[in-house]
Amino acid sequence: MPADYHTHTPLCHHAMGEPEEMIDAALAAGVSEYGISDHAPVGEGYFDDWRMTYDKLPQYLDWIERARVHAKGRIPVRCGLECDWLSGCESWIAQLRREHDWDYLIGSVHYLGTWDFDNPQWLGRWAESDVDEVWSLYWKEYAAMAESQCFDILGHPDLVKKFQHRPLGDLRRFYEPAIEAIAISGCAIELNTAGWHKPCAEAYPSLEFLELARGAGIPLVISSDSHAPSEVGRDFPRAIELARQAGYTETLLFDRGKRGTEPL
Ligand code: ZN
Ligand code: ZN
Ligand code: FE
Ligand code: FE
Repeated sequence: MPADYHTHTPLCHHAMGEPEEMIDAALAAGVSEYGISDHAPVGEGYFDDWRMTYDKLPQYLDWIERARVHAKGRIPVRCGLECDWLSGCESWIAQLRREHDWDYLIGSVHYLGTWDFDNPQWLGRWAESDVDEVWSLYWKEYAAMAESQCFDILGHPDLVKKFQHRPLGDLRRFYEPAIEAIAISGCAIELNTAGWHKPCAEAYPSLEFLELARGAGIPLVISSDSHAPSEVGRDFPRAIELARQAGYTETLLFDRGKRGTEPL
């Protein structure tokens, strides 16, 4: 099974599991490596309560160390962060990168302005929004995130479909500019299996996006985005099938920024 690099810890206030339980789950799922990438602190002070705060970074590194001790000789443990792409965040991300010798940083678009559009709390805002406009803005931000070169992996590419809001017609008009920016950036994207368990009932990204990404030579990782031990490596066989269907034959590995591959 491929490596699972997108997983959370209780430090973000909405995930559960002790490091030992997460490692046991990774071993049971048979993933080749276990990567920890909790929601990173954001720069301009504290906002929203679903991420770790800056003062918790030492505790986060301790958590990772506990996972390493438990995993020793059984499965490699990698460490990173899932960082929010916010306007003007580049110098903050550069600072986070210097905080530790991370294996990778994941960049995610969860915000359009100050709206964390994937938060079920703000579903009402969706009802008032023009889906085409939200999608346009989302993909513009996604492309800008790729162009920033701040990240190694770009998270859950079409998260904007989470609650099943999809524009009519051919969606390639949104995908293609983003694909082009990602391909130029050299970043990897993830096939995130959490989407299968959300209202959209589809992996992030869709098969069509994956096919375009494959055609453009964009490298891939597969990840569960687990927020609990039971979710580690979830649906990986199904994800492998989807990735193969899109033409992928390998996934990427990260070791302190150094890239490797493993066959699918
Ligand atoms: Zn989360
Ligand atoms: Zn580390
Ligand atoms: Fe995310
Ligand atoms: Fe996540």
